[in-house]
Amino acid sequence: MYSIKKDPWTAVIYLILLLLGIWIIYRVVTGSKRRAAEKEKQMEQTRQNAQKANETFTVQRILPNDPSFSLEHFLNVVNHTATIIQDAWSSGDMNKARNFISSGVYNRFRIQLKMMMEQEKVKNIVRDYQVLSIQLIHEEITGDYYALHLKITDKARDVTVSVEAGENEIATALKSATPSEFTQVYSFLRKKNIQTDPAKSFLNNVCPSCGAAIDNQSDKAKCPYCGNVFNSGDHDWVLAEITQWSEWDISRRKKIAEDNAIHPQVLEDRVSYLFWQYLYARSVGRKDILQRHCTQEFLQRYDLKKTFYTEPVIGSVDLSSITKTADGLSQANLVIKWSAGIDKNEPQNRTTRIGLICDMTTYGNPGFGGAACPSCGAPLPDDYKNNCEFCGAGLPATSQDWLIHQMEE
Ligand SMILES: [Zn+2]
Ligand SMILES: [Zn+2]
Repeated sequence: MYSIKKDPWTAVIYLILLLLGIWIIYRVVTGSKRRAAEKEKQMEQTRQNAQKANETFTVQRILPNDPSFSLEHFLNVVNHTATIIQDAWSSGDMNKARNFISSGVYNRFRIQLKMMMEQEKVKNIVRDYQVLSIQLIHEEITGDYYALHLKITDKARDVTVSVEAGENEIATALKSATPSEFTQVYSFLRKKNIQTDPAKSFLNNVCPSCGAAIDNQSDKAKCPYCGNVFNSGDHDWVLAEITQWSEWDISRRKKIAEDNAIHPQVLEDRVSYLFWQYLYARSVGRKDILQRHCTQEFLQRYDLKKTFYTEPVIGSVDLSSITKTADGLSQANLVIKWSAGIDKNEPQNRTTRIGLICDMTTYGNPGFGGAACPSCGAPLPDDYKNNCEFCGAGLPATSQDWLIHQMEE
């Protein structure tokens, strides 16, 4: 029978060629991977250099008005604020963060925690919180305020457990929780004519206005010595807004700020507080919670329906226009993008338009201190009460502030 005579050398040559081929492919693949990694490294270096140049440029613009401004000190304040918010949130008590954050940010977290505990009967535990990077990305003067915007990337492990869960249950749940990263823009504001004095800082538990030693964990965000409202932004930086990086758009905000004397961020902060009060009032089916914060006309017209909300989250709050009513009052029209599940359905994206009205002749102008007892600075009671729960002072029947006048869902 005819057969091909096997030559052992042919097999060896084939094997060598095969190995050579594999080696060439390997070199090509690793070579291009290495070049891609080098290119990425160069691009990262370019980004970092551009960021440094931008930061230096921004600091150069701040210094003529505030010669003692130190980026290092400011970034410490930012880092401390971001960390203390997580700590306060995880412990279910926002008070320890209150001096550093605006009324809107404080009440948003406070009411969110309250709704989780009372309605959904859960708590959210955060562990291993870490700020990965902070970049000063923008500075601007808008109206009476100076604003610094920072891009923050942070990381933590978190779990949502029943309110009754004990330490063991929490520890077990945390073991299987993988860390998640978030990138957000934190906006810090301060009155524009204020000079930095690192000795008079909340970081040192000192009133930034008069320098007296203060209790940074008190319910009252008001100095008992000089009357300064700590989170008003009048004397020190206050975190007035947190925006998702994907929603960040500075151009639109600037335009509105230049067109109007009223500060858009103060208004957005106010509406954020009002909207959380509104969600809470609906979740417990009680209209009296809104009484102090609405016009009489709205209260008479509005039929409040009790509603169960699952995972309510506000994505963005934007001022769209400011107009005048027929009576000469100022009207601000704002759009709120938010999401929640209603009556135990899956969460859905929602848009609500709110019209606020303010009589500028009696406007109290509380800055970012917002809704608080005018006497001691403690938070206003959520229930409609005539007197402050902390100092007993009489509270105004209607806030001398922007009031809800229209609501369109
Ligand atoms: Zn003081
Ligand atoms: Zn009080």
